[in-house]
Amino acid sequence: MTPRGWAVLTLAGLVVALVVVAVLLVPWSRPPAPRADQLAALRDLPADEVAHGRALRAALRPGRYTGLVVGLLAALALGLTPLGGRLIELAGRPFGGHWVAQAVLGGLVVVLVADLLTLPFAAWRHSVLTRYGLSTNGWGGWTLDLLKSYAVSAVLGATVLLGFYAVTRLAPRWWWALGAAGAASLVVLLSFVLPVLVEPVFNRFTPMEPGSLRTELVNMAARDGVPVRDVLVADASRRTRAVNAYVSGLGPTRRVVVYDTLLREATPAEVTSVVAHELGHAKDRDVTVGTLTGALGAAALVVALYLVGSWGPLLRLARVDSIAEPRAFGLLIALVTVAGLVATPVQALVSRRVEARADAHALALTGDPATFEAMQRRLAGINLADPDPPRWEYLWSASHPSTVERMAAARAYARETGG
Ligand SMILES: [Zn+2]
Repeated sequence: MTPRGWAVLTLAGLVVALVVVAVLLVPWSRPPAPRADQLAALRDLPADEVAHGRALRAALRPGRYTGLVVGLLAALALGLTPLGGRLIELAGRPFGGHWVAQAVLGGLVVVLVADLLTLPFAAWRHSVLTRYGLSTNGWGGWTLDLLKSYAVSAVLGATVLLGFYAVTRLAPRWWWALGAAGAASLVVLLSFVLPVLVEPVFNRFTPMEPGSLRTELVNMAARDGVPVRDVLVADASRRTRAVNAYVSGLGPTRRVVVYDTLLREATPAEVTSVVAHELGHAKDRDVTVGTLTGALGAAALVVALYLVGSWGPLLRLARVDSIAEPRAFGLLIALVTVAGLVATPVQALVSRRVEARADAHALALTGDPATFEAMQRRLAGINLADPDPPRWEYLWSASHPSTVERMAAARAYARETGG
């Protein structure tokens, strides 16, 4: 069989594995709270707060979607015309067109050009969030965050570019197989490394002060049978008023992180409710399953890029001989951007199901639907969320059930348990 035949077979295998993981490990069966209950919850929210949240979301929308379209057009222009290839040649010229210079510098230049085109939309978003009082980060802090994230991406990007194009040179016919294995390994590695190496670049984490809340959280985790090494507090307040908590890392790097804003704004019982939700993620191994799915998806993407990227008309548009050469990086970016857009609503759907399961876990673990609902109201109020966003936007990108869905789920739990 030819390498191409093996690639088709591998891609089929990866897609089947993804479908099996999705069918078996995503909680599909839980029915959403009835719409009537959601509307009743919406009526119970203060009207001015709902209007304020909706006004912010409406103010963000034009920039958000224009930025998305500009990003897509930029990627297509760099990939489906000779433009990307020419940029990469230019970047490599001072180094005699050496492949390493083309691969690393050229690749970073292409990404930077695409980033700079969407930068005005990111700045606009920051100005809107500041106007609504949600962002507490000044322009200096915002710029510093931006430069930090560019630096992290540049280091990571240069490593990936160098590795990828070294592999395509060493194994011109089988690079897709090595690339798929490498991409999958990278996803797993990053899942371990990001919380430890990258998150501290943006925030300071300190262990939660000993006291009744910390004791309650640690005891609850023990009762839940979830090994939590530590409860950390992130200094999110220097950037935002938004409140949040999350669980990240695998195995020995796993920790629950609580924003300092959450500790400041919410009651201890509400913080407990949020951490109970995060313990649900840990208990159901959502980070592990997410990493596994991400690894399978990344491997499938590399193989698909190889197969789609050998299509003559595409190569002629980009004026390159093969998708595996550094000059074709723009084409690679264009295909990855399109794949990302296709994956967005699918990822959002899976995420909402997983989040709803963590909510159910929090309700069962705390047995306190009233506090859960109060916390959802508070979250929506502080984060200026639209508690019941437009259906199309919800389907496109909502990573969590809406506030009214979560409130209705708490009410359904209270009814079922007579609480
Ligand atoms: Zn969650």
